[in-house]
Amino acid sequence: MSGEHNWNAATVKNLTAREGNGTCADCRAPDPQWASHTLGIFLCVDCSGIHRNLPEISKVKSLIMDNWDDTQVQFLASHGNIAAKAIYEAHVPVYYYRPKHTDCHVLREQWIRSKYERKEFIKPKGNISNGSKEGNLLKRGRDNGQYLPRKFFLSEIDGTLKYFTKPDAKEPKTVIRIDTVNASFQPVKMKNANGLQITYVKDNKTRNIFVYHNDGQEIVSWFNAIRSAQFSYMQIAFPKASDKEIISRLTRNFLKEGYMEKTGPKQTDGFKKRWFTLDHRRLMYFKDPLLKHSLRQGPNTMPLLYDMIIFTLLRL
Ligand SMILES: [Zn+2]
Repeated sequence: MSGEHNWNAATVKNLTAREGNGTCADCRAPDPQWASHTLGIFLCVDCSGIHRNLPEISKVKSLIMDNWDDTQVQFLASHGNIAAKAIYEAHVPVYYYRPKHTDCHVLREQWIRSKYERKEFIKPKGNISNGSKEGNLLKRGRDNGQYLPRKFFLSEIDGTLKYFTKPDAKEPKTVIRIDTVNASFQPVKMKNANGLQITYVKDNKTRNIFVYHNDGQEIVSWFNAIRSAQFSYMQIAFPKASDKEIISRLTRNFLKEGYMEKTGPKQTDGFKKRWFTLDHRRLMYFKDPLLKHSLRQGPNTMPLLYDMIIFTLLRL
């Protein structure tokens, strides 16, 4: 490494002190150690790995380990994260999910591809609604756990998500009210990188369906379409709520999930292993992580029990 390269590497590293460059341009993780010298942005190591797969658009280098020539340093200095955001995130729809560092790979990869490869947010889309969608998803069967193609319809106007068991069926197998839905990516639990869990309430019971699509773009598109339909529904249902308040009530990651031993309701009952799921509103438990129905769910306000269970989960 020559003296000039060392000097440039130090200059590039110093650029992270500028406003906007102190967090990853794509997932907001602090202290980025990488940069794309074709897009002029600073990145965390994980996002730089995704950029590496888009060599036509983005070329990444380590801020510390790589050699930087003068033109690359100047490009990075004259661009940076704030300037890139103004272009590539200029028209991200309000309901659209912006992944965090802790989110799963498919969400982060598709966010990066939608920004820089497909350039989806550079121009406004007008008033075209994105909360309606139809297509096939592979859905996990209740009994044998096999994934089979099912036709899904999302309707923003009806406020429903429906699916059909047979291609020529006139009546849907299930009609799900969009305001009861929570969609959450579950790659580990479902052992599928594009696995999506859709939780909903029907007849006062929490139910789950597990779906995926082989194409990451398609499953993320479904996820955001569900958010869009929910957003429109809530705008009408709660006209006084701000966009920010509504956004906070769209799809949420589960706060905590895991096995615990549970006894009761009778005193003589032995301990059984149950899968507990805690989201912002409910605590539920299931016989199995991929089971369709919850065995029991807590009412909305059980602060003491919630605290106790969170405590136990954190100790596991
Ligand atoms: Zn990142």
